[in-house]
Amino acid sequence: MIDLKNLTIEKAHESLVKGEFTCKELVEAYLKTITEKNKELNAYLEVYSDAVFQAEEAQKRFTNGTATILTGIPFAIKDNILIEGKIASAGSKILENYKASYDATVIKDLKKEGAVLLGRTNMDEFAMGSSTQTSAYGVTRNPVDTFRVPGGSSGGSAAALAGDLTLAALGTETCGSVREPSAFCGLVGLKPTYGALSRHGIIAMGNSLDQVSPFGKCVRDTEIIFNSLSRYDKEDGTSVPDVVRNKMKAAHSGAKKIGVPWHLFKEGVDKEVEENFKQSLEKFKKAGYEIVDIELPHAQYSLAAYYIIMPAEVSTNLSRFDGIRYGYSANKEVDNLKDVYMKSRGRGFGKEARRRILLGTYVLSHGYYDAYYNKALKVREKIREEVMNAFKNVDYILTPTVPITAFKLGEKMDDPVAMYLCDIFSAPANLAGVPSIALPSGISSNKLPFSIQFMAPHFHENNLFEVGKKFEEIR
Ligand code: GLN
Repeated sequence: MIDLKNLTIEKAHESLVKGEFTCKELVEAYLKTITEKNKELNAYLEVYSDAVFQAEEAQKRFTNGTATILTGIPFAIKDNILIEGKIASAGSKILENYKASYDATVIKDLKKEGAVLLGRTNMDEFAMGSSTQTSAYGVTRNPVDTFRVPGGSSGGSAAALAGDLTLAALGTETCGSVREPSAFCGLVGLKPTYGALSRHGIIAMGNSLDQVSPFGKCVRDTEIIFNSLSRYDKEDGTSVPDVVRNKMKAAHSGAKKIGVPWHLFKEGVDKEVEENFKQSLEKFKKAGYEIVDIELPHAQYSLAAYYIIMPAEVSTNLSRFDGIRYGYSANKEVDNLKDVYMKSRGRGFGKEARRRILLGTYVLSHGYYDAYYNKALKVREKIREEVMNAFKNVDYILTPTVPITAFKLGEKMDDPVAMYLCDIFSAPANLAGVPSIALPSGISSNKLPFSIQFMAPHFHENNLFEVGKKFEEIR
């Protein structure tokens, strides 16, 4: 019996090298938990029938000496990342039967390493949400407490990893969609620097924000995945070239100065979450870190700016789903083109997607463009400047990951603004494009995971891994 609970990528790799188990045995162990638990959790929308075949192929690389750290490692993949020949529905009815015609770059790279793709995971429709309840394919349950949400939008990947239905998982972030489910499920989640990992082959939500982001059971797992997938990709116009990456990279390790923007702690931050955060700060102080107050005056407008910029990009990106080129179409039931558009989009998109298309179209429309969209862009630039300025004085910015712990299924669905508030601490990193890591920081009185989150300057992921590993020792 493989001890899945305590398995990490490194441990699995060691065992595969030593021949303690084979790639096939490892995959079969996960398929077994999937059979046992997925019905209840609904973490996977589809488990690939060729998973065992992939494992057998991976095994050959251990025999012929070409195995890498990710060879044979099972991955769960969010349903908005294209895998050639497989369905990618982005949690939406409108893409129910859409089969990808090519691999996303991150998938190409995982295949090159010989990773095993177990299946595609549930998500909020088009990654819009913080609870995986807006999926057209039902809610996903949190393995820590199955009456609660796993967070979102990458909730399926988080639940799969936290429930031992996979060893590694990919999600995507536009604003917190990996860090927030990491927090709710007790995992590590890394939002890389914007432009670090390729967006080629990701079903876009907000192009200027989207980033493929790994989940891990420990910091080292996210580091391994990040190192394997972070590279320049000419297929992605916003991928950052190597010369620029190298210039921006952390010049030193041993970074020890942490800034805390206390002014962002407003009403809505749960008392226990704040208490846990303070305890975490104490632990860093004891370990020799310097903690200082910082001000990010415009960061309080992060959510306001995000909920204008993102819908604007959403309304543009989702215009391609017109009932003609992709997915669901009402064309057989209506007799004119306008009705094809209206009926296909009206039925194919869920409520949240429709809400954001409307909002986005509005803020981009004549007369409102300057009043809303342009203003939001200016606020975003201010926030970016303030974050960059803060990093002249501190190495890290630290906050709780989410102001609350995992909430009950059904909660907040009638109150979009309450749902949006989950992102209050996540948004600055996405808007500024800097990397951020969410780390489990304890358990609440009702046995739910707490999480804290570090931000660092662009391409300083190494510093995040360093401080994250330190926290794993002292927490
Ligand atoms: N909660 C965010 C939203 O609803 C999540 C977006 C994301 O990161 N995909 O927009």
